[in-house]
Amino acid sequence: MKEDLKSMTLAEMEAAFAALGEPKFRAKQVFVWLHKGARSFDEMTNLSKPLRAKLDSLYDITAPEVARKQLSKKDGTIKYLWRLSDGNCVESVVMQYHHGNTVCISSEVGCLMGCKFCASTLGGLVRRLRPSELLDQVLFSQIDSGLPISNIVLMGIGEPLDNFDAVLRFLELVNSPDGMNIGMRHISLSTCGLVDKIKLLAEKKLQLTLSVSLHSPDNESRNKIMPINKRWNVEEVLAACKEYYEITGRRVSFEYTMISGVSDSPEQAELLAKKLSGMGAHVNMIPLNDVEETGLHTSSREAIARFQSILQSHGITATVRRTLGSDIDASCGQLRRKFEKNDQKGAADSAD
Ligand code: SAH
Repeated sequence: MKEDLKSMTLAEMEAAFAALGEPKFRAKQVFVWLHKGARSFDEMTNLSKPLRAKLDSLYDITAPEVARKQLSKKDGTIKYLWRLSDGNCVESVVMQYHHGNTVCISSEVGCLMGCKFCASTLGGLVRRLRPSELLDQVLFSQIDSGLPISNIVLMGIGEPLDNFDAVLRFLELVNSPDGMNIGMRHISLSTCGLVDKIKLLAEKKLQLTLSVSLHSPDNESRNKIMPINKRWNVEEVLAACKEYYEITGRRVSFEYTMISGVSDSPEQAELLAKKLSGMGAHVNMIPLNDVEETGLHTSSREAIARFQSILQSHGITATVRRTLGSDIDASCGQLRRKFEKNDQKGAADSAD
């Protein structure tokens, strides 16, 4: 199999090109082409034809195809379903905010974590994405939509910290001044709470925003909705977040899904406020997006408002996430799931 060129850093490319007897600046030319979205070596017109042929014999260039594209009529949100080179699909969502355009990208095909409310994990983990495949989602979302991307959130399908090395390499690539040059402070990474990896990430001292999917302040109800809580419980996750804050100086934000009768009681709001006090934490409340298979439902408006006001009365910043793209299944593996189900249905139909 040919090597995946776009997953290489500029320094690695320079070393590889030196080994081929090519000067350093050639590597930079290729790096720039790749990070502008070139799909083949033939597009790299400032390289000689023999060099293009040589590179083509050694390296692959990843580039996903648009399998589906949906545009929200309500708010301009665009959802992409990308088909990767091996036929697997992942989603990205482009959202337009006043502060700039944000793309939400997937880190894995499927997910191992098994959260009970999440569509991404229903079929388990298929495979982890490569650094180039992470970058491609940002790059080709920008190219296809024509919207310059200034912010990235790793909150799509998959658990980014379960694909730790590829994600770190992706961050280096997307941050590169010769590439998309997106600053770490414009990047958020969301995790369900892999404590060992949160500690490793803290040591890297990156300036990105760490978001932790807490979804419940007590182990009894968190155990019911997030199997990972049996490995690392609420106290262990919060201790790791405090450590992360101390080491990096970056405040951790918490995602909190409002699920009726599971995570939305006033007692839980009080307990959450108590457990987060002194952390400068920000709580991002997310009304649950109903996923047919889960049997779980979103909290009432009243329960959400009450929960938020309890947190605020304890001095905790709590915002309710605006639902963008609700008309286009723009959340959490819903499009991939539907696509696959229909595909299977299609296959069954044709088998009949
Ligand atoms: N694996 C990472 C990132 C992926 S999901 C994590 O767990 O953080 C991004 C966020 O959406 C997470 O907070 C996740 O718990 C939440 N989420 C998943 N399914 C949801 C649903 N049906 N409704 C609302 N939020 C959901």
